[in-house]
Amino acid sequence: MKKSPWICTFDVGGCNGCILEIAALLTPRYDIERFGCLLRPSARHADILLVSGIVNKQNKERLKTIYNQMAKNKKVIAIGSCAITGGPFKNGYNFAGPTDKIIPVDMYVPGCPPRPEAIEYAILKLLGRLNDKTKSKKIRR
Ligand code: SF4
Repeated sequence: MKKSPWICTFDVGGCNGCILEIAALLTPRYDIERFGCLLRPSARHADILLVSGIVNKQNKERLKTIYNQMAKNKKVIAIGSCAITGGPFKNGYNFAGPTDKIIPVDMYVPGCPPRPEAIEYAILKLLGRLNDKTKSKKIRR
């Protein structure tokens, strides 16, 4: 999981802006595969689930099913305002989210949509691949 996490996505509605930013991660410009991350179509093979868009009454159960299909030590990242709060759709008749009301979420990437770099940063942060310099700083009084 830490060295070569497999990732699957679940776009649960919204305007599809966030899923396009996720797709950009796979392009040579952002190239998430250089960190060993591989996009998989099946949740059963995935370590990380990227959720974008709004959870609604129709897809809520599917999201739960996908989460339950993933193996242990799974991680979930909510991408964009829609997944985190409902964004511009939160007052809609069909809104059943936010995502963390339905499944546990480990990391949030705010934005409408967030930049691919922000999503990449969140994945690497989740994997503990980034040096957190604030931890190593000594506190001087
Ligand atoms: S957060 Fe913004 S860009 Fe992403 S799906 Fe919602 S409305 Fe679209």
